[in-house]
Amino acid sequence: PKAGELILEAKDVTRRFGGLIANNNMSLEVRAGEILALIGPNGAGKSTMFNQISGVDTPTSGEVRFLGKPVAGHDSREIARMGMSRTFQHVKLLPTMSVLENVAIGAHLRSDKGVLSSAWRLDRAEEARILKEAARQIERVGLAEYMYEEAGSLALGQQRILEIARALCADPCLLLLDEPAAGLRFREKEALGELLRKLRAEGMATLIVEHDMDFVMSLVDRVVVMEFGQKIAEGLPDEIQQNPAVLEAYLGG
Ligand code: ADP
Ligand code: MG
Repeated sequence: PKAGELILEAKDVTRRFGGLIANNNMSLEVRAGEILALIGPNGAGKSTMFNQISGVDTPTSGEVRFLGKPVAGHDSREIARMGMSRTFQHVKLLPTMSVLENVAIGAHLRSDKGVLSSAWRLDRAEEARILKEAARQIERVGLAEYMYEEAGSLALGQQRILEIARALCADPCLLLLDEPAAGLRFREKEALGELLRKLRAEGMATLIVEHDMDFVMSLVDRVVVMEFGQKIAEGLPDEIQQNPAVLEAYLGG
């Protein structure tokens, strides 16, 4: 997609869990090449919204469309192949396997052949293609020097970046990141921000749920704020930081 083109549209998304309304008429848009933050207090409904967007869960009502197609009814591998890729809040790397192997697993999961068929019937050409793709993404995120190190030996910030390399296999145009800066040191957050800016310069759109306000406000193009399942504000970082409803949600409680 061209820069600025609408790629993701969530329209009036409502998700109920019994009597609880976790997402209430939530609408948001993501355009090609932008970084959008989804923020809000704990329990606001951010992760639920992420699950509706990535197709892991289906809205009670409303719709999410990605590149013009409804997300509902597709499994996560189909959605990844459409060009949307996510990381999870709790990193699940295989610590005793190499950086390359960890990323190759991501490429496997996104391959149209799938893990099982390639495990049963080792397809050498497919294997070589996957390793090449994994190495390319490791270089892209700047981890080439750690290619053959055990993933568990990397610092937390590098493991987070490794997780992004894994999500980059199959060349998504939209990345979904759930709290990528959580627990990172200042320098690690800087390195992560630098990578996300580089990906943006390459045309990547990113939707990021994040608690660290300094990190978010210095990085993103636009912010959507949620409270009690609803959107309470939307705008540029500077506008959001001065928005009375947002300040009330964070400070007033
Ligand atoms: P956030 O990510 O903003 O902290 P969540 O989306 O995780 O918020 O949760 C929003 C609300 O929905 C919370 O009250 C949470 O307890 C509830 N919730 C989330 N997932 C489920 C579920 N699978 N079943 C029941 N309630 C849920
Ligand atoms: Mg959450």
